[in-house]
Amino acid sequence: MKVIRAKSAGFCWGVERAIQVAREESDGGKRTVFTDGPLIHNSQMMDALGQEDIREVGDYKSSKDLQLEESSEKSSVVVVRAHGISPQRRNYLKSLGLPFRDGTCPDVGIIAGKVKSHAEKGFFVVIFGDPEHPEVIGLLGYAKGRAYVISSVQDLNQLPDLGEKVAMVSQSTMFTNEFNRLSLLLKEKYPHLIVFDTICGATKERQSDLIDLVQNGAEAIVVIGGKHSANTRKLAKLAASHNRPTFHIETANDLSPEDFEKFSSVGVTAGASTPEFIIRSVCDKLENY
Ligand code: SF4
Repeated sequence: MKVIRAKSAGFCWGVERAIQVAREESDGGKRTVFTDGPLIHNSQMMDALGQEDIREVGDYKSSKDLQLEESSEKSSVVVVRAHGISPQRRNYLKSLGLPFRDGTCPDVGIIAGKVKSHAEKGFFVVIFGDPEHPEVIGLLGYAKGRAYVISSVQDLNQLPDLGEKVAMVSQSTMFTNEFNRLSLLLKEKYPHLIVFDTICGATKERQSDLIDLVQNGAEAIVVIGGKHSANTRKLAKLAASHNRPTFHIETANDLSPEDFEKFSSVGVTAGASTPEFIIRSVCDKLENY
């Protein structure tokens, strides 16, 4: 079977950078690295990082107190993952008294800066995103109570009168077309609305490269990535919305040959937290079908 791989499948620069930060701190396992929640949403990669004593502590939302098991033989460090955290969480992590390294993606840092500066100038900030996602939870912390999260038209309709000073940002991994649609509706409600399209370049690239796969003749689409990865789930949703049979898998072990019997070509893409070794093994297996 012909396998067409998306140009931008796999790690985005923000994830690569966070992994590099953690690896630098670990120095080949000489130091224990505690990450506040999973460094990336990919269990196979987390297992590989565990070999270098990079350990996930805390929880998905970065809300619980950390239980740190420090070794008496080697030093430890706390690393913040690419999603970023709220200023309150930052203070808490720093209060633990361990060295601290920030792996927040600079693209998320830009969104946080916009939320903070506009809240300080008296704006209400509407964040388009998933209220349960750690990135959004972190962003809310910068708004000092002056932010609302919306993920649908229904949420938008329920927003109260926010006056004239209203700004809108997006979680970095949302769909561009949904963001544009909601921003137009929000503008009708708040005519002075200031809109910041903060969907990151890597997300936009992955979404448009997936559409290229469809246009280049892929009869079905395989999306590789963790079931909890927001951007992977979005890629699977986007592929399905283009009327292509879509298979969201975590590894090559999830593939079944009979699912692909009727296709002569398949497109492959992967979320921003999917490592290259998994993408390669999936492509190899599909090529042999
Ligand atoms: S998806 Fe975008 S914002 Fe998130 S880590 Fe990657 S580059 Fe940064």
